[in-house]
Amino acid sequence: MSKHAGYARVAYNFGLSSFKAGLDNDEWRSFVDIKREFNAVKYDKFHWCKELSQNASKNAIHNLGDAITRWRKGQNRFPVCKNRSGKCSYQADNGEGTIEVHKKRINVPKIGWIRMREELRYSGEITKVVISRYNDKWFASITVRRLDSSNYQHQPTLLDDREPIGIDVGINTLATCSNGDTYDNPRPLQRYLRKLARANRRLSRRQKGSQNWYKAKKLLSGVHNRIANIREDAHHQATIRIVRKASAIGIETLNISGMLKNRKIAKALSDSALAGFLMKLKYKANRRGIPIDEADRFFASSKTCSNCGHKKADLILSDRTYHCSECGFEIDRDLNAAINLCPA
Ligand SMILES: [Zn+2]
Repeated sequence: MSKHAGYARVAYNFGLSSFKAGLDNDEWRSFVDIKREFNAVKYDKFHWCKELSQNASKNAIHNLGDAITRWRKGQNRFPVCKNRSGKCSYQADNGEGTIEVHKKRINVPKIGWIRMREELRYSGEITKVVISRYNDKWFASITVRRLDSSNYQHQPTLLDDREPIGIDVGINTLATCSNGDTYDNPRPLQRYLRKLARANRRLSRRQKGSQNWYKAKKLLSGVHNRIANIREDAHHQATIRIVRKASAIGIETLNISGMLKNRKIAKALSDSALAGFLMKLKYKANRRGIPIDEADRFFASSKTCSNCGHKKADLILSDRTYHCSECGFEIDRDLNAAINLCPA
């Protein structure tokens, strides 16, 4: 599979330099021209590609064609050459219905049947299969055209007793909802700090470029990956639970770059990755048509009393409970903020 990914990269770069050479001669080479040119020379220039599936190079040149079209329309920048240390992936199919998946196995051209970790959950025509490597694990992303549904019907139906929910996001508790639900923040960086330091030290002691250096590098990226996975998982679980219960969502606009300037909380703040959490919340709500109400950045969600509306002047970060001097109301600080953010 890495060979195939390498082949896709070589074909892409070949095509790109051919296209550039064409531009220099005031000639617009279409991806069909490029493909023809590549196919004419590939067995001489890249003789090792004989044992590989030609779908890899074909799809790579197609993708290049897409990139060029988008560049021409002004939708993206001019494509750049792919390098060895970049993303390792290739598209394995030869069009619709050319790849077979049976239970926990997939039949990849020139490679054969490979076991998968999980079954494909959707039935229908397989239109595209992209194989990629992340952190020494191989993934197949399979595009399926379902015959029985339009968009998103595979998602569980929403609960009937939905209500507007206000959410206060924070470092200690990832999300406090106005209905009383709270979601913890795993803060994996803090947990893996020692492991991370050890992996970093190991890498720094190895000679750069040596076999052991690569091994140490892999180890380090493994720790980073684990941290990212734990964080992502917590975010996905919390956001999906929230959107399943909400009819409308209210959040505050965080001034994250401003908060990062506060050294005391900067590390914990990056570790909780609140921007990523809000992003997931927004797209999941959007998909289901749940409106999101973003409060003004200067809206004092934690200083205002959710009972009488009195605004407190002196509230510091360490006050975990909100006492109202006007009406005597007493409530958890985050819950108070969440109720204030709740859309009417
Ligand atoms: Zn009050």
